[in-house]
Amino acid sequence: MKYLIILLAIAACNNAPSPAEALVKEGSNAVASTKEDSNIPEIVSDSIVPAQYLDGKLVKVEKTEDTWKSELKEEEFRVLRKEGTERAFTGDLWNNHEPGIYVCAGCGLPLFASETKFESGTGWPSFFKPIRTDCIADKTDNSYGMDREEVECARCGGHQGHVFPDGPPPTGLRYCINSVSLNFVKQ
Ligand code: FE
Repeated sequence: MKYLIILLAIAACNNAPSPAEALVKEGSNAVASTKEDSNIPEIVSDSIVPAQYLDGKLVKVEKTEDTWKSELKEEEFRVLRKEGTERAFTGDLWNNHEPGIYVCAGCGLPLFASETKFESGTGWPSFFKPIRTDCIADKTDNSYGMDREEVECARCGGHQGHVFPDGPPPTGLRYCINSVSLNFVKQ
């Protein structure tokens, strides 16, 4: 079944667990975090693997390089595991305008929502904020002589892209992400 449930999280400041978090609670002894609830539409599908939390920490996905290589397509492996970058305007998501959510192509963790996507003109999918900041890891990247903040999936460590301080309101941030690092789940 492609889509199991489509639920809208309506309240803007609601401390109750979101549908995805409630699902996590039911499925294991992991405890859903209520640190940061989102008011964006939530979609549960087979392509989405919700975050799980144990002792307040995101449960990580760790695999050997050989396992990643066998599971990912060649370009996915190059970008996600080797910090590669796809050529601008070549990915299949930079010009996607469908409503839905974008999950990590490595582990299925929901990372970005269509409501936060904007036209950056760069040729890469661009967002002004992630679904949850604790699902994104930033680290300084000085490669190619540039001072940039690299963006990773906080669960599997898959390279997503970079974040720059020249985005639109309300955050002023531009998460510049590789299409190949994401899978899109239509609402
Ligand atoms: Fe991931």
